[in-house]
Amino acid sequence: MSRIGVLALQGDVREHIRAIGECGADGFPVKSRAELASCDGLIIPGGESTTIAKLARNFGLFDPIVDAMSAGLPVYGSCAGMILLADRVLDAMSGQETFGGLDVTVRRNAFGRQVDSFESEIEFAAGKPFKMTAVFIRAPWVEAVGDSVAVLAEVDGHAVAVRSRNLFATSFHPELTNDTRVHRYFIEEIVAPNMVRSNSLTGAPRGSEGELR
Ligand code: GLN
Repeated sequence: MSRIGVLALQGDVREHIRAIGECGADGFPVKSRAELASCDGLIIPGGESTTIAKLARNFGLFDPIVDAMSAGLPVYGSCAGMILLADRVLDAMSGQETFGGLDVTVRRNAFGRQVDSFESEIEFAAGKPFKMTAVFIRAPWVEAVGDSVAVLAEVDGHAVAVRSRNLFATSFHPELTNDTRVHRYFIEEIVAPNMVRSNSLTGAPRGSEGELR
């Protein structure tokens, strides 16, 4: 069973842990380096991106998260989590930091200038494409993507789901609905293949050595 950590500094942690459990994986909160080291995949939840970044610094998790991502840890960022994965942020707070790694430019609170929160029918174009209702709350959108980035869903011509290698992000909040297909996509299409790959390299399950990958 894959172990999916949810960065538990601020935001809607519990909802993600429930969704992970419904997908048959083991979801648990991550507040320490040891917990981070035991993850097969990590979710950065929605909340407030500036607060999560500051708390990650305070908890000594900021650099370990950056290192784990660049070593290949699968990470899914939703809403504020998308902002935290982005290399570039428009309408950022002054001095706002992100973990980065995803070669995209996001605009913070992009939809929120028109309306704070809304639902929209989207087509999610990963693996087997499906239609779903997506919940947006003061959401960012993706304004520009690098060559390595695939756009998986759009609203009114704005990218709202993107993936590049081990990094995946959505502007919306699947954890606030009963639809677990986006979590399933992350666990089955991004985390599981990565576990097979790293187990075949080390001959042992990852995360058992207590070291950061
Ligand atoms: N607007 C928030 C931010 O900038 C994100 C909102 C959310 O995660 N629902 O971090």
